[in-house]
Amino acid sequence: MNKLSPQQALEKYWGYRSFRPLQQQAVEAVLAGHDALVVMPTGGGKSLCYQLPAACGIGLVLVVSPLIALMDDQVAAANEIGLKAGALHSQAGEVERRRVFAELNRGALHLLYVSPERLVAGGLLDIIRPHLGLFAVDEAHCVSHWGHEFRPEYRQLGPLFAGFDGVPRVALTATATPQVQKDIIAQLGLRKPVELIGHPDRPNLIYRSFPRYDQGHQVLEAIRQHRGEGGIVYAQTRKEVDRLVKTLARAGVSCAPYHAGLSALQRAKAQDDFVHERLDVIVATIAFGMGIDRSNVRYVIHANTPRSIEHYQQESGRAGRDGEPADCILFFSVGDLVTHKMLSFREEGISPQRRRVIERQLSEIGRYAISPVCRHRLLSEHFGKPYPVETQPGARAIDCGACDVCLGETEALPTEEARLTAQKIISAVYRTEGRFGAVYVTKLLLGSSDERIMANSHDSLKVFGLLKGTPEKAVRAWIDQLIVQGHLAVTDGEYPLLRVTQSGLDVCKGTETVRLGHPVIRSAKKKSRKAAAELPTGPEETLFANLRRLRLLLARKLSLPPYMIFADSVLVSMSVLKPADAAALREIKGVGDNKRDRYGKAFLAVIAGADPESIADEFPS
Ligand code: ADP
Ligand code: ZN
Repeated sequence: MNKLSPQQALEKYWGYRSFRPLQQQAVEAVLAGHDALVVMPTGGGKSLCYQLPAACGIGLVLVVSPLIALMDDQVAAANEIGLKAGALHSQAGEVERRRVFAELNRGALHLLYVSPERLVAGGLLDIIRPHLGLFAVDEAHCVSHWGHEFRPEYRQLGPLFAGFDGVPRVALTATATPQVQKDIIAQLGLRKPVELIGHPDRPNLIYRSFPRYDQGHQVLEAIRQHRGEGGIVYAQTRKEVDRLVKTLARAGVSCAPYHAGLSALQRAKAQDDFVHERLDVIVATIAFGMGIDRSNVRYVIHANTPRSIEHYQQESGRAGRDGEPADCILFFSVGDLVTHKMLSFREEGISPQRRRVIERQLSEIGRYAISPVCRHRLLSEHFGKPYPVETQPGARAIDCGACDVCLGETEALPTEEARLTAQKIISAVYRTEGRFGAVYVTKLLLGSSDERIMANSHDSLKVFGLLKGTPEKAVRAWIDQLIVQGHLAVTDGEYPLLRVTQSGLDVCKGTETVRLGHPVIRSAKKKSRKAAAELPTGPEETLFANLRRLRLLLARKLSLPPYMIFADSVLVSMSVLKPADAAALREIKGVGDNKRDRYGKAFLAVIAGADPESIADEFPS
């Protein structure tokens, strides 16, 4: 193998001109023979950290990865850019196994992906010993009890590596608290590793959180902003998934459900259809997502509140892995938190300690959802890093330009108004002696001549009609916000009733602060700076559509996921720059040598005006 410098390899294979943060340090560390720990958010570009050393001639890179479903995609993607890659796992066929060993014996294999089970089963390491250049452990948080996805086989990797003193080790993960980081280093036996810990923020994600009042309608509205693009909708229960699928399908959205109630076959088909872009939208419970590597997911909608910020980060993080703008929208209702709590507490033998953890996590995600504070900042701070990423000393005002609060779609009520409004709501709950739920209290505050209110003679209470003229949705959202802040509490049970807490009484006395926010009417919306630059318009839009069509047709012909042929951003650049020859095409970020040679002619023809269908027909399969 020819030795290339990291920069040369980056250009030749990937067609990128610059590294993302920390990639270069990671590559240089292992090329110099050091161990490394890399913590980088999803989409940060972790795979390049261990693939690029292979392209530079470090020798065979053994990649331990827990997800068999993903391995074949990773192998295909590596082969697409011209690296020789293979996978060994329980579902790999005999033909593939032979091919892998033949390449290996020729010393031509760059990357070998294995499941931890396969490696632990023994034998393999001795066979590959002469070729080995680097151990890479992906999803390294699986080694830790403290992480969220502990895998016992990961514990046996450290001892296995021990017999290979001269081979550097790199461990990679998207999320690891300092405790998990320590555990990874200890368990995998990393020797004085270079620690490369990235900032958790994902600047290309546009976060929004709104109160939920009509699930089907709100989800559909959000999807309509993304016609023809790939997205994931998460709902809490199978029933809600099925109901949403009905609503969306009726409105003509191409979608499928995904939850544990479906057969393995149905689930595999839904996932495959989604990855191969035969399907735009997956509506799923939390069961979906682990094996999803589609990099051009343009939005993730939470139709219900997830159970923790960690879950939210992970689920919403499946959007925009290609680095292009993507939307993450959360439709919040306090009822979701009550359901989560009920379901978790029903588990047998749940310890008081575990209960406290669950309660803390629910209250954290609740606060995230209702606080009229920059969402990028809330998330970064939750993961222990300040935001903005480079804080100027003394700089306070921030406008991320990529969340509902900074875009002016959600506004905080001025302090005094928030206090007065909160006091009115709390008084109404107090007056009704904790015997009613949010619906009733809202009607009371709005001064509705509802039968029940009349029957109870509550129209004579001083609080009756105190918020007359306010939109009902706003009052409901404020009640949720007061619950999340602990000023009101709801009883457990089928019909949750409201009561006032001590801190609620303190709000009324004026000794406790309160914050209320509300969504602003649509017309007042600022356009997101990031979304604005997203897709071409005018004549370029037609070209872009044709290029996408060609990509889809080729993908079907070659049985590849479309994003693996070219990322969305590459098609955007092609439709804007309209390269006339292979050299100009190669200049586009994301077009390496291999892809230029393989696909250049076909895409150039469509750019020059040819019909995608006929070009795809002629393409050799
Ligand atoms: P992770 O595993 O950290 O989630 P990936 O390795 O899948 O991230 O990379 C995410 C996306 O970023 C991929 O589409 C990849 O091609 C792209 N990418 C990685 N490094 C670079 C870079 N230096 N320049 C531009 N794009 C990059
Ligand atoms: Zn913001």
